[in-house]
Amino acid sequence: MIIAIGSDHRGYPHRDRLRVALAASGHEVVDCGAPGPGPADYPHPAFAVGERVAGGAADLGILICGSGIGVAIAANKVAGVRAALCLDPEAATMTRRHNDSNVLCLSGDRTTPDAAVAIAEAYLAASFEGGRHARRVDQITEYESKHHQERGPAMYDAVRQTDPEIAAVLAAELGRQRSQLEMIASENFTSRAVLETMGSVLTNKYAEGYPGKRYYGGCVHVDEAETLAKDRACLLFEAERANVQPHSGSTANLTAYLAFCKPGDKILGLSLSHGGHLTHGHPVNFSGLFFEAIHYEVERGSETIDYDRMRDQAKRERPRLLVGGASAYPRTWDYAAMRSIADEVGAIFVFDMAHIAGLVAGKVHPSPVPFADVVTSTTHKTLRGPRGGLIVCKKDHLKAINKMNFPGIQGGPLMHMIAAKAVCFHECLQPAFRTYAQRTLDNAQALAAALIAKGFRLASGGTDNHLLLVNCKPRGLTGKEMEELLERVGITCNKNTVPFDEESPVVTSGVRLGTPALTTRGMGPAEMRRIADLMDRAVASRTDDAALANLRAESEELCRAFPLYPE
Ligand SMILES: *Cc1c(COP(=O)(O)O)cnc(C)c1O
Repeated sequence: MIIAIGSDHRGYPHRDRLRVALAASGHEVVDCGAPGPGPADYPHPAFAVGERVAGGAADLGILICGSGIGVAIAANKVAGVRAALCLDPEAATMTRRHNDSNVLCLSGDRTTPDAAVAIAEAYLAASFEGGRHARRVDQITEYESKHHQERGPAMYDAVRQTDPEIAAVLAAELGRQRSQLEMIASENFTSRAVLETMGSVLTNKYAEGYPGKRYYGGCVHVDEAETLAKDRACLLFEAERANVQPHSGSTANLTAYLAFCKPGDKILGLSLSHGGHLTHGHPVNFSGLFFEAIHYEVERGSETIDYDRMRDQAKRERPRLLVGGASAYPRTWDYAAMRSIADEVGAIFVFDMAHIAGLVAGKVHPSPVPFADVVTSTTHKTLRGPRGGLIVCKKDHLKAINKMNFPGIQGGPLMHMIAAKAVCFHECLQPAFRTYAQRTLDNAQALAAALIAKGFRLASGGTDNHLLLVNCKPRGLTGKEMEELLERVGITCNKNTVPFDEESPVVTSGVRLGTPALTTRGMGPAEMRRIADLMDRAVASRTDDAALANLRAESEELCRAFPLYPE
């Protein structure tokens, strides 16, 4: 048998003894800690042993602490574990026979190491009798699985039973998200309601077409979900029409471009190295491959867009499509200027609000919707919904957009994601969302001021939205070095070119920082100042491993103070 074994310091001699004795009787022993004989908290080995047994990686478990009670309580919190404290071999035999117990708990204080071996041998030799006892164990299991489902996304019970390897990935990623300061400007944490809807039975349904006009039967309920999503998107963004089917922001852009352009037509967007997105005409992307892409840039000095220059360029080039929006532009856009430029040259004006959609929805940032012909977006960035795309447009453009998205580009819509978008839009319509949006901005302002005070340079000198482009060169680091340094102290971000960057795109001079995810965790301006201070100290002690380890502990403590997906 495979036996998982663990203890705190008071069970250490017993664990040592059991490990040898069990191996000698032919069992495979997996030691789950705590490491070494020094003082240790008992819950940690208890969860480790419990999870191995519940997940099927071990047949049975053995845990020891002073009384044996602490490890039993902790192990019994793991769904699927039936941990029993036994002080003699008779109890050990009975709990296997009657309770189908799968984790034996021993008292380090009241049981000698020799006695522990005798109790363990009795436990391993006995087996479950079933019969009337099975009924009682089933009652426990039934209660437990119902209870755990209600506890939400942290549990992953079914995955753990079917696929322990992927379950381990899910648990580890949840742990990472909980324990690191997430400052990637395009990331966020969805609500449990959104997570649940994404994992729902709607994923089983084919629904090619649009509500009321599907190519499959049985669409009555998914029609309702998509209609809710569309109506809420229109209400939220004060838009005339919406298409909620794009699988991603990139697909939304592809839809918008092909709805109005033929391959080879000219599109004008912000260049990638000045903050634009790949889908705005970069040569490696469909937008650069299918279309003749030309770019505007920000000005030297101000590092902002000059709309007179954009107008001159548009008049010269006469693009079919004028594209606004960015992934790394910290300033507001002059939508009215872009509308008039598009009108002057007879172009369609597409605005891609992927990054700022949540700020627009929260009414803390100007909206492109009244100005642009078509507005594309993602739903997972500041908007805080499921990973996906969205298009809102003027009434006259809906037919072209719908036809290009399906059947033009996509097949069956992801109905679980569309329903999750509906949940997201509903959340965005609540007053609490406006508070989050405003606080995201306040936090970006606080972070910007604190970083400038520490000698960092911000592209364009500051920010109007949720993101900052931080030039690290004045502090003696490239963007790549800064990203790696921050990773070591528990802060996740991405290196990013700054306008007119002299470093290559894989090195860069800057990092992009965003406040949405930390704001969702509940952090405010005081925490932003603390984080700026942490970054400053990380740079100052970048070659001092011990100092960096202390900073990492500090950032983890900050994370613990703002729990994510609490149990
Ligand atoms: C993120 C982003 C996209 C692409 O979204 P995906 O869902 O990753 O395809 C498109 N445009 C802009 C401006 C973005 O920031």
